[in-house]
Amino acid sequence: MVVAASSFKRIVIKIGSALLVDREAGLKRNWLNSLCADVNMLREAGCEVLLVSSGAIALGRKQFELPLRVLKLEESQAAAATGQILLARAYSEALGEYDYQAGQVLLTLGDTEERRRYINARETISTLLKLGAVPIINENDTVATSEIRYGDNDRLAARVATMVSADLLVLLSDIDGFYSGIPGKDADTRRFDRITEITPEIEAMAGDAGTELSKGGMVTKLEAGKIAMAGGTSMVIASGKELHPLKLLFNGGNATWFDAKETPVTARKKWIAGQIELGGSIVIDKGAARALIGGKSLLPAGVTEVKGEFSRGDVVAIVSVEGEELGCGLVSYGVRDASQIAGCQSDEIETILGMTSRGALIHRDNLVLRTQATKMEKSDA
Ligand code: GLU
Repeated sequence: MVVAASSFKRIVIKIGSALLVDREAGLKRNWLNSLCADVNMLREAGCEVLLVSSGAIALGRKQFELPLRVLKLEESQAAAATGQILLARAYSEALGEYDYQAGQVLLTLGDTEERRRYINARETISTLLKLGAVPIINENDTVATSEIRYGDNDRLAARVATMVSADLLVLLSDIDGFYSGIPGKDADTRRFDRITEITPEIEAMAGDAGTELSKGGMVTKLEAGKIAMAGGTSMVIASGKELHPLKLLFNGGNATWFDAKETPVTARKKWIAGQIELGGSIVIDKGAARALIGGKSLLPAGVTEVKGEFSRGDVVAIVSVEGEELGCGLVSYGVRDASQIAGCQSDEIETILGMTSRGALIHRDNLVLRTQATKMEKSDA
């Protein structure tokens, strides 16, 4: 199946340790170079690319020549501390061939689960993309303990993909897709080309296969798929074993595509519309209400009053001067800042708050009007 790379705006690619690191020889530089050539191909097709790469522990293990048994937590952490430096340097050099800067981002579970940290991580990654860099993301293995670990980069990659509203998550694996059984072992095993929903039947087919270098079997890949699809991100499982894995994939190579039913923006709007307990509200004048209906963002100039308690990133109600609830949205400023800039022109924000403006009070992609919310409910029925 040929799917054009240019149909995606933002792609997250997850690279497993086994693809990048050979137990005996260490880093597979040729493979990494071919991957980076493919990243360049995607960038030239107009896609933004983020890499979620494993390999820190495997590289560190090799560097320290640690025994090939399950490592103790502190051993993996020490291995990751050294391995991550080698990993980041390797990416930086390989991407440098195409004049891209690599930006290392190490995340722990809390960074994607806690609102403040989530917003922070998202802003950093978005800024890296705006600056033209290629974010290289991994779990912060040196500090993550077993209770606060993702433990596998499939789910980390899915959380990152929804966090940055990517439209595609590519899981490069040691197998070329999702199979109904174990290839070569179970009779009549077939590879799915396309899956539109991860049903219990599909889940029952996932064995927990994996090589000793990688932890991600199909079970975690399906979990990643659920996270991604719920956030409006499509996912594809493809083989990364050959050189130029992304070129092969987008030329119609074997793979299993998991299609998200909606876009990341629609998925986010549904989540916003579904929030019940709203801590605060923003009262807006008629001009602003007209602008919102016309599809614009909510600017501070149209705000007459700010009520209640809320922090940056909370969902707040949008209310007319007459008290009619017009909709709700994810607010870019906390209550104190929002009150200070209410009624002001956008170019005054910097002087008033003493920080660079975050633009609209509520961006149109983060805003749902009541009329839109009713439409969403109908389309779900
Ligand atoms: N974060 C780990 C590493 O870089 C890998 C986790 C995984 O393979 O999913 O070694």
